[in-house]
Amino acid sequence: MERWRLIITGLVQGVGFRPFLYNLARKNGLTGWVRNNSAGVEVEVEGTIASLQRFLGGIKGEAPAAAQIETVVSFPVSIRSEETGFKIIASERGGISGSPLPDQGICPDCLSEFNNQANRRYLHPFNSCTICGPRFSIIADLPFDRSRTTMARFQLCDRCRSEYTDFKDRRFHAQTIACPQCGPLLWLADPRGHRLLEEPGAGARRILKSGGILGVKGIGGYHLAVDAFSGDAIRSLRQRKERDRRPFAILFRDLEAIKEHCRLSPEEVKLLLDPVRPIVLLKQRDNSALAREVNPGLKEIGAFLPYSGIQLLLFDQELAALVMTSGNLSGEPLITDNQAALNSLGPMVDGFLVHDREINWGLDDSVVRFQRGRTIGIRRSRGYVPTPLKVESNLIPVLACGAQQKNSFALTKENRIFLSAHQGDLDNLTAFLKYKETIAKLQRLLECRPEYAVHDLHPDYNSTIYALSSGLKTIGIQHHLAHIASVVAERRIKGPIIGVALDGSGYGRDGKIWGSEFFTGADGQWARRGHLQYYPLPGGEAAIREPWRMVASYLNTVAPGFLEEWLANNGLSLKWGPIRIAINQGINAPDTSSMGRLFDAAAALVGNIHRVTYEGEAAVWFEHQADLAVMGSYQFDIRIENDILQIDPGVILDQLRWDLGCLSVGAISAKFHRTVAAMVEEVCLRLREEVGAVQVALAGGVFQNRLLLDLVWEGLEQKGFKVFLPEKVPINDGGIALGQAWLGSLMIERGIDNVFSGTR
Ligand code: ZN
Ligand code: ZN
Ligand code: FE
Repeated sequence: MERWRLIITGLVQGVGFRPFLYNLARKNGLTGWVRNNSAGVEVEVEGTIASLQRFLGGIKGEAPAAAQIETVVSFPVSIRSEETGFKIIASERGGISGSPLPDQGICPDCLSEFNNQANRRYLHPFNSCTICGPRFSIIADLPFDRSRTTMARFQLCDRCRSEYTDFKDRRFHAQTIACPQCGPLLWLADPRGHRLLEEPGAGARRILKSGGILGVKGIGGYHLAVDAFSGDAIRSLRQRKERDRRPFAILFRDLEAIKEHCRLSPEEVKLLLDPVRPIVLLKQRDNSALAREVNPGLKEIGAFLPYSGIQLLLFDQELAALVMTSGNLSGEPLITDNQAALNSLGPMVDGFLVHDREINWGLDDSVVRFQRGRTIGIRRSRGYVPTPLKVESNLIPVLACGAQQKNSFALTKENRIFLSAHQGDLDNLTAFLKYKETIAKLQRLLECRPEYAVHDLHPDYNSTIYALSSGLKTIGIQHHLAHIASVVAERRIKGPIIGVALDGSGYGRDGKIWGSEFFTGADGQWARRGHLQYYPLPGGEAAIREPWRMVASYLNTVAPGFLEEWLANNGLSLKWGPIRIAINQGINAPDTSSMGRLFDAAAALVGNIHRVTYEGEAAVWFEHQADLAVMGSYQFDIRIENDILQIDPGVILDQLRWDLGCLSVGAISAKFHRTVAAMVEEVCLRLREEVGAVQVALAGGVFQNRLLLDLVWEGLEQKGFKVFLPEKVPINDGGIALGQAWLGSLMIERGIDNVFSGTR
């Protein structure tokens, strides 16, 4: 006889791991106990050596699917023969080094119970088990036990209690166990919050079928839902929410419904069904009958599947697809609280589907897409957060404050980087307040004590302002280098690489607005090696909303005569006058090398677009027009100045304008995309010759353009490059904090205060 103590680390809490060990111990005739502790799960087992070894073998071989075991350490302890049987005992508190589990979408077993009339949980909105249900969104403290979640106040009924304590039951020790007799309550309310007696599911569907807007309290926060086939309903949603033309995500009843409207690869099916249940960006079928107001002018749908019983109640034979958008005021954070929902969303909705379980962590839906065999992150939140990203060695404890738009922040602890959920755009005051509150709250939960705040170089970003006033020591990292560092950290790239950040805008080391940056380097030493030649950004931010300004900026130098004519035809001559003077005098027209603005200009020139409602709207339209049957591209020159390769974007637009009226929009779009891809390839080839790097990391918001990314990726691989992209971390500014955390920590550790070598 021997007694062993085992410490198991990894994602082992909230996945049914203790019940699994309980059954494994009993099967092997062992006595002892299991409990959650700060590191993960701790076990003591006693029995014959042979059965102890079978137990150890079973841990890795038969563990629950959602568990991710990292290490199993075992060592002998002294025998305690007085024990009878094997027990699950109370968790040990203190020193959190384990990782809380993210929310898990409803599992197949719980789904079939939900649909089974004979089951006592038939149509139960809160159905969950040891492997599925809310996790992080309801956590108040760690380790993950019901008493430290917002389920704590719901007393188990007798039947739930007997399931909870029955080791043969699949809800043995399920912390979120509930049934229609006990647990949270779901009800229907009118827009003023008065509870209606109508059966909640039926009432919700009635509102949706009548073209109404329904406020739905879900897992990570409130949603606003309308029927995706009703153009009128969607128009009124856009109007009431003051939402720009950005496409809405669609929650489909089931996979069949998605297949009717979108083209799907097997990998995309897998992503949709993953317990994360992310929104997956899919190609829309030409014959899809969804209302055009869902995604005006686009051929892409953000689709996802129900991940909770609450959402399943929204569908029936007549309802197959719903617009599901975050329940918030435009620009503000997601609403999680019932009273706040009533105040803010009440005036917008025709009714509420609401419940009385509190949401402790607001989580938007995550967004990913699948391309060339890989998942690419767009927005990282519910289902992914707070799973940390691991690096090879321990990091200095830092808080990485992120960027301004699509903000997320990050905390480091040992060799893990905890990237926060999507925080939204920090220029909104409410979002900024929430950001500060969430930083403090996450630090408390994870017991992180950062010594440094890592920030962007932009002096006006609220994240920078926060860092500088935090009282921590600070270190700044250039925006586009942080984009590249984020890929290096997530994909654990070793050795020299070429980093290509194509972006809207980011503050440069020279005080100019960067946005098409080529870097070479590794670890803590980098050099800026290429970018688009600088042009004025007339009116700064205003040029983002009025892309014609960039047409004027580029063509003013290379084709002034043509420009005057184009502006006159578009009725813009009067507006141009003062802007031209401002540019000439250098007033409110900072220099920029932004690739996002070049796309804006090309799109605006071809489509005669004056104003857009969100950044990149013109460019997204232009991408979706592309006619790939058309080959050919425009010429570009690469100049070398101060050892930096520079490409003149004006020269490209000057050629493009000759195609206006001769070629279709689709043909010009294809040629333009091919030109940018060829340019990236050419610069990378030259840098490879110089520094020998064959690895290329791609990041930045412009790469959300699927066509451009395809062309760049394919081109680089054909030339023998190894291409790296972010996977679960957003490719846009949502991934900045990860790069800041990793690179910042490395710089501090090695005492580097400037990662840029030489004068570059
Ligand atoms: Zn389940
Ligand atoms: Zn119950
Ligand atoms: Fe960026």
